[in-house]
Amino acid sequence: MTDLPPPSLRLDLDAEALAANWRALDKMSGAARAGAAVKADGYGLGAANVLPVLARAGARDFFVAHWSEVPGVIAHVPPAQVSVLHGPRNEADCAFARATGVRPVLNSIEQAARWQASGGGACDLMVDSGINRLGLPMEAIGDPVIDGLEVEILMSHLASADEDVPQNAEQLARFRQATAAIPARRRSLANSAGIALGGDFAFDVTRPGIALYGGVPRSAFEGVIRQVARPRAAIVQVRRIAPGDGIGYNASFRAREAMRVGVVSLGYADGFLRARGRDHAFRHEGAALPLLGKVSMDMVVVDLAAAPELGEGDWVEVPFDLPDEAARSGLSQYEVLTTTGVRLRR
Ligand SMILES: *Cc1c(COP(=O)(O)O)cnc(C)c1O
Repeated sequence: MTDLPPPSLRLDLDAEALAANWRALDKMSGAARAGAAVKADGYGLGAANVLPVLARAGARDFFVAHWSEVPGVIAHVPPAQVSVLHGPRNEADCAFARATGVRPVLNSIEQAARWQASGGGACDLMVDSGINRLGLPMEAIGDPVIDGLEVEILMSHLASADEDVPQNAEQLARFRQATAAIPARRRSLANSAGIALGGDFAFDVTRPGIALYGGVPRSAFEGVIRQVARPRAAIVQVRRIAPGDGIGYNASFRAREAMRVGVVSLGYADGFLRARGRDHAFRHEGAALPLLGKVSMDMVVVDLAAAPELGEGDWVEVPFDLPDEAARSGLSQYEVLTTTGVRLRR
């Protein structure tokens, strides 16, 4: 096929910042080694983009949610370093784990029995220490099926690590009970926010996700974690607006004076939700380009007054400081990051 013309959207990944974030989280993990959660296509940034950087920085444990994510991950890192969090639902999942060499994370007696029936071997085990999401109930820990497992990483997941609440200590205490009862080569409890809870939470491996990619789930990461993703969008048309003209759907912005505006090729279909567009601005070399009117599916309109040199085909910067975007929109930092549209990654 003929080559595609150049895109009008792009996602610049600051590989140095990503590597620096992993190193910072690894250091904050103390004696434990930081792994990396790369589910949801590397939290929306493209697993193929983030994996080589994380592996080069030193990450050796990678966590995905779905089996469908495995091929995209083992194209970049050894399968023995990959854990699949959702666990084996059936014989086909077990066979896929064996064929590829990735480890299933077992989340129940049933999954443990299924894995053993399919031949057993190295696996990970998730215990539910109180999040009531996936994981083996604490009551099931003494079950003979669990005793027979060859557990590489025994893990649990914190529900409220981004808050100072008693639940953190409660989950830590339960996880300690689990580690005392279940032999495993390595133990893992902390996600990004959990790393900031201190050495007690670190065990052998930590599992940061959001903070690798620029998220700041606790204040301890402020000034440490760097912005990784920098989306940019091109101006596809420049227009002159007369006083009284409305802009965009429902004419929710109406010009008071003559304006020069740019139509930019980015909208909610690219993850730039209307909730993020309110009272906000794109940027160009430090100049603010206020958004005018509603974000529509594929476009926004910006005021070009502060950057008269910009014209059709020029790129503008889409704001993507995760804490700031979350605070403005009411979305979580996870939502801002993972809804980054697929068109940006191409
Ligand atoms: C997503 C996930 C992580 C990473 O969590 P962050 O809050 O993004 O750091 C770690 N462990 C498990 C089990 C997860 O599902």
